[in-house]
Amino acid sequence: MIQLPRWQLQSRKASKHTPFLLITASATRSKWKRRVADSLGVEERRIAKIDLRVFGGSALTDDVDVPKRRLEPEIGHGIPVTYVPARNTIFLAYALAWAEIISASDIFLGVNAIDYSGYPDCRPEFIEAFQTLANLATKAGVEGTRFQIHTPLIKFSKAEIIRKAVELGVSLSLTHSCYDPSPEGLACGQCDSCLLRLKGFREAGLKDPIRYAKE
Ligand SMILES: [Zn+2]
Repeated sequence: MIQLPRWQLQSRKASKHTPFLLITASATRSKWKRRVADSLGVEERRIAKIDLRVFGGSALTDDVDVPKRRLEPEIGHGIPVTYVPARNTIFLAYALAWAEIISASDIFLGVNAIDYSGYPDCRPEFIEAFQTLANLATKAGVEGTRFQIHTPLIKFSKAEIIRKAVELGVSLSLTHSCYDPSPEGLACGQCDSCLLRLKGFREAGLKDPIRYAKE
């Protein structure tokens, strides 16, 4: 089953004059995204429907099977077919456009370069390069705004991310990480992303609160 990578931008104001943007991407249904946004106290949302199926070229956007039950060494080696060409470049470009419009200079992205699938657009080098671009490519940047791309999770293990989420009171029961959820929205428990998430919960000594399609 092909999942549509949909995503949303959320704006939450840290204070009256410093709005910031948070990017979330998932194949989660909109009602769940709304619940996640509500639980985070999001003030304003924009949902941009970008249909990367017109290009295909990924197990998430094309008629290609999502790899299942891969072992950890396999997941950590090479770039798998679940890589979506230039996806985070596209997400950040949209976020940057909205940031410029609402005079925000801080953009937050939840990429991770530790327990991940080797995607090039999740690495610190990419984030730094995009930040440089943001400051060169926009009117606001040229006129003195210093855009900053924040990636607070980039160097955390999955277990550390989960512990931090629990510490911050994030409703993890509203989240999933699956590349290939069931028609009812249940995570498969077998794709790389589900396996990394489950490993993270195990290492954190916690139980994943979500239901999986095959338990
Ligand atoms: Zn899955």
